[in-house]
Amino acid sequence: MKDIIIIGAGPAGMTAALYALRADKSVLLLEKENFGGQITYSPKLENYPSVMEISGSAFAEKMLEQVIAHGADIELAAAEKITDMGDYKIVSTEYGDFEGKAVIIATGSKHRHLGLEGEEELIGSGISFCAVCDGSFFAGKKVAVIGGGNTALQEAVMLSDLCSEVIIVQNLSFMTGEKKLLQILEKKSNVKMIFDTLVTSLSAEGGELRAISLKNTSTDETSTLELDGMFVAIGQQPENQPFAALTALDNYGYIIAGEDCLTDTAGVFVAGDCRTKRIRQVTTAASDGAVAALAACRYIDGLN
Ligand SMILES: Cc1cc2nc3c(=O)[nH]c(=O)nc-3n(C[C@H](O)[C@H](O)[C@H](O)COP(=O)(O)OP(=O)(O)OC[C@H]3O[C@@H](n4cnc5c(N)ncnc54)[C@H](O)[C@@H]3O)c2cc1C
Repeated sequence: MKDIIIIGAGPAGMTAALYALRADKSVLLLEKENFGGQITYSPKLENYPSVMEISGSAFAEKMLEQVIAHGADIELAAAEKITDMGDYKIVSTEYGDFEGKAVIIATGSKHRHLGLEGEEELIGSGISFCAVCDGSFFAGKKVAVIGGGNTALQEAVMLSDLCSEVIIVQNLSFMTGEKKLLQILEKKSNVKMIFDTLVTSLSAEGGELRAISLKNTSTDETSTLELDGMFVAIGQQPENQPFAALTALDNYGYIIAGEDCLTDTAGVFVAGDCRTKRIRQVTTAASDGAVAALAACRYIDGLN
């Protein structure tokens, strides 16, 4: 039996592994598809302290190398269920069951994609999901923001201070985000809003996004918008359903937990983007990983 099983090997899970291993606990790190998590999709990470610039995949490799050097066991397997056996937990995967005295859920979340042809290949080459992360790469350029909720409007406010032009494309006839944000945007001369409109296809040149095709859903009119970048802000999707029996989820599927990273179940902790929180970044995920790991260590030491 392992001391701690960590589900998800993004920045939160990797940091949790590092802290647990340095506290002399045995660790199994389960990852379903991509050691490193979401950041591997980013061509440049520029807002992690001490690192001027690094590609997301190089950053992920360094994290993995570090936890393996400290003695983590890793498995490429998706956790499908956690069973609470009291003083230990069973994590079931497609390849069998694993036992641990404590479990840390660090399954992250995924940005919803538009589902258009070529979209996946253009992530990091004109398509972004995060103005805080990637906005500066589009300074002085023309970008579109897709969506009309709070995230889309916040992204647009941030981008309007950096970019020459920001066009918000919303599928409804109104914005669903806060009025206050909308009022800020309405006063900006470089922001334009297009309503009742869907993005129907993407055009690229030299592997970079160059234009998007639009269709007005009330008039059927089509048009082409040339641009340098597109920020997709149509929501995020955590994948916490397998753990819903043990941990309370909010209406959006995030595990309800505060800065202490504790869940409803003793011995089950949560870290990173998969929990309820306001800022979802590598730094905040790493912070949660440390907090959750040390809480899990205290829990185990109390049991022993
Ligand atoms: C394109 C892009 C650019 C970004 N740029 C930046 C940036 O510049 N700076 C910044 O700070 N942040 C950036 N972010 C955000 C940052 O990547 C996330 O906030 C951070 O990765 C969250 O870490 P996490 O460990 O909580 O979750 P994730 O990184 O999402 O990792 C969770 C991991 O859990 C795995 N998993 C999920 N379910 C299971 C399961 N059932 N069993 C096993 N494994 C599972 C997933 O496959 C994934 O690898 C960017 C995000 C994207 C998409």
